[in-house]
Amino acid sequence: MTYSHIYDMTLANISKRRYQKAAWKKATAYSKHLRKMLADHKGVLKAMEDVSKLRWKERKITVYLVNAKYSPISFSSPLTLKMYKDPRKAFGVLVHELIHNILSQNWGSVSAAFHSKYAKENMNVRIHILVGAILVILNERLFKDSQLDLFKYDRWDYAPYKRALNIINRDGARNIVEGAVRK
Ligand SMILES: [Zn+2]
Repeated sequence: MTYSHIYDMTLANISKRRYQKAAWKKATAYSKHLRKMLADHKGVLKAMEDVSKLRWKERKITVYLVNAKYSPISFSSPLTLKMYKDPRKAFGVLVHELIHNILSQNWGSVSAAFHSKYAKENMNVRIHILVGAILVILNERLFKDSQLDLFKYDRWDYAPYKRALNIINRDGARNIVEGAVRK
């Protein structure tokens, strides 16, 4: 987890905000807090492998922390995480973006059958059918009924994600993951 002065400053410029020099200090404290949350849930990265039947191919992923006001969204590549007011939200979004990463590291393992089954859905919806299905199973295993419920803080009310969730409810998260990952 890192903070890049030049990266955050560039985002500030693009969003026409004034860059605050003390941002790195905030990032240091924020990163400490998030690392602690991850350490408390040490199994989460391994559980992503178990649930998805995929393997991490890179041992390390750099997470860039950015000021929440500068970047419109958090995204997966380079993994860019907004410092949300509530770190529980940052944790949920981080898990979501990490799922995108394990999928993109193994994109060749996603079956043609999955793509053709959901060919009518646009790519954003289609990807989130798979991301969401993995999250549903992961959430059941580790976070449901806890303060960190993965669907509590993440943006699943956003229309394309909501559509993906409806499809997951219809077809079943486990069926989707099993059908999507080529053995
Ligand atoms: Zn996503």
